[in-house]
Amino acid sequence: MVNWNELIGEVEALEPARFDRALVEQFERAPQKEGGIHFYTPTFKAYSTSEISACGQSAWPAVSITGGACKLQCDHCKAKILEPMIPATSPEALWRVVEARIAAGAKGMLLSGGSNHRDEVEYGPFLPTLRRIKDRYPEFRIAIHTALVDRAMARRIEAAGVDAAMLDVIGAQDTISQVYHLRRPVADFERSLEALVDTSMKVVPHIVLGLHYGRLLGEWAALEMIARHRPSALVLVVAMPFYAPAQRPFATPGSAEVGRFFLDARRALPDLPLLLGCARPAGRAKLEIDAYAVLAGLSGIAHPAEGIVDLALRLGRDVKVTPACCSIAVGEEVLALEDAQAARIDPALIVAHERRRGRRLANIAVVAG
Ligand code: SF4
Repeated sequence: MVNWNELIGEVEALEPARFDRALVEQFERAPQKEGGIHFYTPTFKAYSTSEISACGQSAWPAVSITGGACKLQCDHCKAKILEPMIPATSPEALWRVVEARIAAGAKGMLLSGGSNHRDEVEYGPFLPTLRRIKDRYPEFRIAIHTALVDRAMARRIEAAGVDAAMLDVIGAQDTISQVYHLRRPVADFERSLEALVDTSMKVVPHIVLGLHYGRLLGEWAALEMIARHRPSALVLVVAMPFYAPAQRPFATPGSAEVGRFFLDARRALPDLPLLLGCARPAGRAKLEIDAYAVLAGLSGIAHPAEGIVDLALRLGRDVKVTPACCSIAVGEEVLALEDAQAARIDPALIVAHERRRGRRLANIAVVAG
């Protein structure tokens, strides 16, 4: 039987990648994860940049209640993540946006917005509109990026009918004060997570790997917090350095370091679905990170690099591919976990398609989430 290092070498599309052989052996020796792996990709065109601009037309639009405004101006983001979202800066505008999107075929939305100086998104005035949306369109799914909340706010968001709540969990005080420019303790992130988990919503925390200027710092503490509160799933993303300002640059986190964290996360949360979200570096790093995610036994990957479906099949994993568009709507990835009815693409078709294409790696998608 071929070992995993040899097996990776057999996947043509992965040839440009440089893998840490010792780490691959570590993955091979680790207890293997039961269950399959789910890939989310807007069909074959996911591999071309043209598809990324098409994400705005998604069945899962991303909507911002502050437009592009955010008071925090975190060093890794500078509110850039909000720019491509559909602005709906008043409750009336939100209602109009949702009605129009539903008429155009939307099945749900990711609701987000910029934060105030306390890392809170001020959803209060919008909650009656969310309730009205859910009463009129009960099938329309709402995933919300909560930022920090107290118990009362978590309950109000639940009462508005929100299906899934997401927040970035940060485990290092230095990252909170330096990157987020925020004067709140790490404990507030855990308290927010606890308050959300105490509701009936699906709760999906995110950990941004390399959030401390490209360095992993509080990520393990964040894992411990998440392990204490049992949310529905965990999404891992990798810091996207190109948002950072020139005077406070971010390094690109090393692929092997990210891979080792996948293994740590798998060990810390053996029964929780672990998903690799869209935001991660492009090019060779993406090939390596995505391959490590498969080897580590993650449960899902959004927009996999070429060769990754092939690798998962060669490892004997039960592969499902869902044609899900919109890079930002991680809510879709999470809600789709239990959606047995979701349309599926035959993984063998993807592999055949990639092999025909050869190694046109210049076309690997760069997807901001
Ligand atoms: S990460 Fe969130 S809080 Fe920070 S600048 Fe971006 S939108 Fe604002």
